[in-house]
Amino acid sequence: MSVDLLSLTPDAARQTLAAWLAARGEPAYRLRQLAPRLWQRPVARWSDATDLPAALRPTLDEAFSLRRLELRTHQVSSDGTEKFLWALADGEAIESVLIPEGKRRTLCISSQAGCALGCVFCATGRMGFRRNLTAGEIASQVRELVIRDPNLRPTNVVFMGMGEPLLNWDAVDTTLTTLNQPEGFGIGARHITLSTVGILPNLAKFAQRDEQFRLAVSLHAPTPALRLELMPIERKYKLPDLMKALRQFRRRVTLEYVLIGGKNDSLEAADQLAKLAQPLDALVNLLPLHPGGAPDLTPSARASMLAFERRLKQRGVEAVLRRSRGLDISAACGQLRVEVEGTARPHKVRAEEHAHIE
Ligand code: SAH
Ligand code: SF4
Repeated sequence: MSVDLLSLTPDAARQTLAAWLAARGEPAYRLRQLAPRLWQRPVARWSDATDLPAALRPTLDEAFSLRRLELRTHQVSSDGTEKFLWALADGEAIESVLIPEGKRRTLCISSQAGCALGCVFCATGRMGFRRNLTAGEIASQVRELVIRDPNLRPTNVVFMGMGEPLLNWDAVDTTLTTLNQPEGFGIGARHITLSTVGILPNLAKFAQRDEQFRLAVSLHAPTPALRLELMPIERKYKLPDLMKALRQFRRRVTLEYVLIGGKNDSLEAADQLAKLAQPLDALVNLLPLHPGGAPDLTPSARASMLAFERRLKQRGVEAVLRRSRGLDISAACGQLRVEVEGTARPHKVRAEEHAHIE
């Protein structure tokens, strides 16, 4: 049985490798040759690590096969945004999006194939839940880019692709470590953002981590009634409880708010949102509605979006109306969706049937 080192933290992978080398009577310095090949100077397979003795490489490939994501499609947007569609070993597929901005390259990664939460405005939500990704599959979205081209190494990572990261906490917990540690990708915690609708028990676990990872919370509505119309998860984790959890969070929070025409974009909604954001000193990210969600939803008019942003600022809230990136290749926030060939229609799990998932 081959051990999936890429699903372990760098420390655990080193320990596993060290024990294996010791059992084979290999010199201790081998570990310094092997470990960097996982994350720092990644290879597609051990046979490519030409600094290792030729006899050792196939043995390593057998014992610790490095699982690959297979690139199915690569699209480049007119604004420089790149979308990568990866096939997983079992035929499931996921997407990641690389967004260049000045010196920054932000990679938006997926934590699940599909999503069970069915937010009405979200394309991933409409495809339903397929499965959780392993830690190796999540981190390999970065690893595969570096193998293709070290210049693609992202400076920032956001968990804003497909899936709800806090419904796949164990794998995401490990991946956060791999992304952050110097023996992993060495990306500063402040450059790693987890986005969630607010799965409270796991939000508490995320909050307990010592590193300064950033938190973005998908709010999208300032009242429980309106939030319930847009996000079935409101039935389980209610807005007042979410706000209470955020007040206890020790670091500054970003609130995500998609502006939907005639739904949540009134000045009254802006005032209500300001009342939530102010005591938290939260930053509010306003997003234009992208296509791919329920067809009866329309984006907010440009003038309404600007008025909404202005109103928040007048109420002393730091708000930013985001530009859409990668729209022409369906790579914008909330647009990621994969039709899987040759399988039955994805089954949709409704949030209320979902109480067992935590
Ligand atoms: N499940 C997590 C992370 C993935 S969703 C979450 O919901 O936070 C990534 C972001 O895309 C979220 O902020 C989500 O609200 C936003 N989004 C979803 N559908 C969208 C749409 N149609 N237009 C704009 N943003 C959307
Ligand atoms: Fe899932 Fe996030 Fe999309 Fe909601 S917005 S359906 S939680 S991916």
